[in-house]
Amino acid sequence: MPTTKRIALVAHDNMKPALLAWIDTHKAHLRDQQLFATGTTGKLITKTLNSPVHCFESGPLGGDQQIGALICEGGLDMMIFFWDPLEAQPHDPDVKALLRLAAVWNIPMACNEATADYLIKSPLFSENYSPKAPDFSVYRARKVGA
Ligand code: PGA
Repeated sequence: MPTTKRIALVAHDNMKPALLAWIDTHKAHLRDQQLFATGTTGKLITKTLNSPVHCFESGPLGGDQQIGALICEGGLDMMIFFWDPLEAQPHDPDVKALLRLAAVWNIPMACNEATADYLIKSPLFSENYSPKAPDFSVYRARKVGA
C-alpha cells in the first residue's frame, strides 16, 4: 500500500454528521490522501476539508457499485463506510455487495468511528504497507474447468 492512501468515504444519511465530524477531527491526515466518495457524502466532505474529493454517483444511483468496481481493479487501499445499522436503505443490495467486495479483496474497512480511529492511528497508515493479496488461482481454475 503506498504512503498516500486511496481512501473511499461513504456515509448513509443518518451517519453523515458522524462521518463529517470524524473527518474534521482527522483533516490534517486526510488532506494528504487521495479521497473518493459517493456523491452526496463527497460533496459534504469537499466542503469540510476544502480539498478535492473524487465524487462518484450518489450511493442509491450506483455510487456504491462504482466504489466496488474500483476495489476490484486494485484502485483502493482503505474504506471508511459509516452505514446505518438502524434504517433500511433502498440500495441495501448495493451496500451488501460493496461490503462483500471489500472483504473479498482484503481491503481495510471501518464501519464505525472506533474502527476508523484504529485505522487512521495505526502506524501502518503512514507506511508502505501492502495487505496480503488474496490468491484466487484455485477458484479461477475451478471455474474455468467446471
Ligand atoms: P450518498 O450515498 O453519499 O450519495 O448519500 C451514500 C450511500 O448511501 O451509499
